[in-house]
Amino acid sequence: MAVFFLLGACFGSFLGVIVYRLPRKLPIGLSCSRCPQCGQRIRWYDNIPILSYILLGGRCRFCKSRIPIRYPLIELITAILFLSTFTRYGIGIKTLSLLILFSMLVAVSFMDLDTQKIPDILTLPGMGMGLVLSFWTISIVKSGIGIAVGVGLLYIVAIIGKLLLKKDAMGGGDIKLLGMIGSFLGPVGALLTLFFGALVGVVVSVPMRKKRVPFGPFLSIGAFIAALWGERIINMIIKH
Ligand SMILES: [Zn+2]
Repeated sequence: MAVFFLLGACFGSFLGVIVYRLPRKLPIGLSCSRCPQCGQRIRWYDNIPILSYILLGGRCRFCKSRIPIRYPLIELITAILFLSTFTRYGIGIKTLSLLILFSMLVAVSFMDLDTQKIPDILTLPGMGMGLVLSFWTISIVKSGIGIAVGVGLLYIVAIIGKLLLKKDAMGGGDIKLLGMIGSFLGPVGALLTLFFGALVGVVVSVPMRKKRVPFGPFLSIGAFIAALWGERIINMIIKH
């Protein structure tokens, strides 16, 4: 159990780097992390996921400038995702496939929050990965239909939104994102993702009264609910 939490935290640390570097077109390699304020190299013992942030009091060891809370936050979220997936499905190809999907979703969500854009460079290869992995999980047919349903659903939403609101309510990035989710979870998973994503989106964004709320994070939360509890929820509905 603890191993999965730690693994998630470490992987979250890597995702934090991607979220920062990918939109800025910086190289994503194993180059050392530096403090963006004073340029000092961050030592390994100051780079331990979650723990270092707490020990340093959220500040750089050298110049005492604030470390953004998002880094430990991304590490914690990824750690929880890894742990809950392992708890639900144990060790196997299904868990591996979901961990790949959830990691992509974490990166996509934070980039969407930052830039209001969901990069194709993550969602399109993601779709390919979902297709390949489906060979051992949901079957390649379901994965293909999942992509079609995911893309189709949001495409229809986008057209209706444009007719009603006279502006682009749904971005192309969101459409491809649900396609990627469909490639991992299949058509029913894509439907449930949209349903739960929209539900959480309405509950969260209505009180905020913001004009433009990125949909990527909500679709990601929807995918998480659909992937871990979708079958149980459907069984409950069928029984009643
Ligand atoms: Zn510094």
